[in-house]
Parts: sequence; structure tokens; C-alpha cells
Amino acid sequence: MRGRTRVVHSGRGVDPATGAVVPPIHLATTFARGPDGELLGPDQYGRYSNPNRRELEACLADLEGAAAAAAFASGSAAANAVLQALAAGDGILVSDDLYFGIRKNLALCGARAGIQVDAADFADAAALDAALAARPALVWIESPTNPLLKVVDIAAVAARARAAGALVIVDNTLATPLLQRPLALGADLVLHATTKALAGHADVTGGALLARDQASPLWARIGEIQRLAGAVPSPFECWLALRGVATLAVRVGAAVDNAEALAAFLAAHPAVEAVHYPGLPGHPGHAVARRQMARPGSMISFLARGGEAAARRVLAGVRLWIRATSLGGVHSLIEHRAPVEGPESTTPRNLLRLSVGIEDVEDLREDLDRALRGGGA
Ligand SMILES: *Cc1c(COP(=O)(O)O)cnc(C)c1O
Repeated sequence: MRGRTRVVHSGRGVDPATGAVVPPIHLATTFARGPDGELLGPDQYGRYSNPNRRELEACLADLEGAAAAAAFASGSAAANAVLQALAAGDGILVSDDLYFGIRKNLALCGARAGIQVDAADFADAAALDAALAARPALVWIESPTNPLLKVVDIAAVAARARAAGALVIVDNTLATPLLQRPLALGADLVLHATTKALAGHADVTGGALLARDQASPLWARIGEIQRLAGAVPSPFECWLALRGVATLAVRVGAAVDNAEALAAFLAAHPAVEAVHYPGLPGHPGHAVARRQMARPGSMISFLARGGEAAARRVLAGVRLWIRATSLGGVHSLIEHRAPVEGPESTTPRNLLRLSVGIEDVEDLREDLDRALRGGGA
């Protein structure tokens, strides 16, 4: 099956009990046993597993070409499970631009757990090799990165990491499994915030981890943490996420069409200083993105000409674009990123981040244009 078919069918089937075309939501937290204590079905207790979570995990594993999946209550809970699965004395090497919440949690909880977290510019081979000389247990890649839209050459970094004895995790949230398949590029684990494009409608918080090797000791520990620590999504959240995935291909297709057009429009706009979008030929990661991604994605960031005050004016001027954080949903969102990241942020003060949705591109373009020209609300 091709990706567009898999998103509709993977992990689901017609319900054998009723013929329902859509899976039922199983709210049960406990599952009965027979007279000899044997379980009647594959599940025993809701935190350990339940039908809706198994369906979502099977679907996501199939989409990423993974041997196994584990769903979590958020993308951050999934990331935290990886951290908890490491041991004191292990090191993590992260790319220098990383989703802010994960960077912060790795630093905070890593330090408490005796895990050293270092950062390097993964586009700089010498800097990467120097950082790998410290023998980190895990290399943490995000590509494209959030919010600078840097592109990391996943195959090249994974090969160097492997040679240095490190496992590799790729946060594939921005790309989605339809645009980028990190396990095929040499990664060991994939992370998703299903909150974003997979669920896709800004109405579910969730996360997932996917593994190339189901038998690895790290994956066994991650499974224990999922079941015993219990940061798991509810059956309804799993159902909603799986329902969202069904339209992933059409949503991503429409959003990327819009993003390509808007990135070109912004790049030519006099009120814009710079545009970060891997689909633009002038983007430093353009060639790598063309190689490792089917399409350049639906996230754009740009620098407003005139500094932070100009960025704030653009933000105030939009009517259709919603001023909100998050990404990958059907609504187009605009965010002034630095204040959202807080006082430690290194994001440029005049950077605006766009999560391009599936509305009519002319409406999106006209609204941005008016805001950029200073025609306020
Ligand atoms: C949102 C996001 C996360 C965290 O997901 P939550 O569900 O908000 O915890 C992790 N990585 C990336 C790239 C994200 O955009």
C-alpha cells in the first residue's frame, strides 16, 4: 500500500462484532479473565494497553516503517520516556536548534538524572565529530527544526553517530511520516507530537515513539516506562488521533501547497528581511531537504524588516491568521516566537513563525500582505 492508502487503513479494520466501519471507543479500564485466570483478549488493564491505543500504535508503526510503537499522553511525555530510559552517566547530544520545551526538559531532568546534555551544530561535520568524541549514548535530531527551519542531514549524522556508538532519535513532528522516513535514513527511534499534524485539528494532545528494533534494551525500558509510569493517552484521545491520521495525506498536501506559495510570496515582500523555508532554493538546507523529504513541509518562519516592533505590528494586523502557538493543524497560525519561549530564548526577536493550514491560499496571502503593509485590524 502507498502512504495515501495507509493513512486511511493502517491499524483499523471493520469491527468484527458489529460491522462498524469506524472503530468503537473502548473506555474499559479492565478486561476480564476466564475461569483459569487466562485473559479473554489481548488486554488486561487500561494503563498497560487498550484497543484504541493498540490501533493507533499499529497505524503509526506502519506509517514510519517501525517494528513497534508506544503512544504517550503528549510529545513531551514521549521525549521524557526516552530520557528516563537512559542511565546516569549517559550523555545526549542534541542539535543546536531544538523544540524549546524538549531542550528545556532534557536539560532540567537530565541534570537531575546525571545525564549530560550537549548541543552542536549538526550541519558542521567537524563540530559534530568533536561532540561525538565524548561518546554520547544518544544523538537527538530534529529536522526541520523548530522554529528556525534548519535542515539536518539525517543519513549523514546517523552514520557518524552510529560509528561513534550512539543511538539516534529523530523528532519527525514537523515533517510527518508522509514527507520524511527517519528509520529508513538510519535512525533508531522516531518521536512524534501527535498533537500536531498527525491528529491535525488542534483538539488532541498526544505523543508517540517508534522503534526500528523491537528487541533493543532501550526499547524494552521505554515500554516499561510507558506501562509503569503511565503517561498514556486516553482511549478517546487515541481514537481522535487515529481519526485525524485518516486525512493526513490530503491535509499535508494542501498545507504544503499553501506553504510553498506563501514562502515565495514572503521572500519577495519588501517588509520581510529573510524567510526560513526548506523549499526555497536559497535555503542552506534546500539540497538536503530535497533528498530526504518528499516535500518541504508546512512550517515557515520569517524575520520582519524593522525589528521586534515591526514583527509585533504584523502580528497585531492579521485577521484570518490566528495568533497562537502549536502547528500542523487545519487552521493557519502565526506566532511571535521569542516571547513564547521565554527569557532564555535565543530566537531572533523579529521572528514570526507560521504554521500554514489548509484554507484558501489567496485569503491567507491577502491577510498577511495587509498586515505586512501596516494595515491593521
Ligand atoms: C509540539 C512539539 C513537541 C511537544 O509535543 P507536546 O504534545 O506539546 O508535548 C515536540 N517536538 C516538536 C517538534 C513539537 O513541535
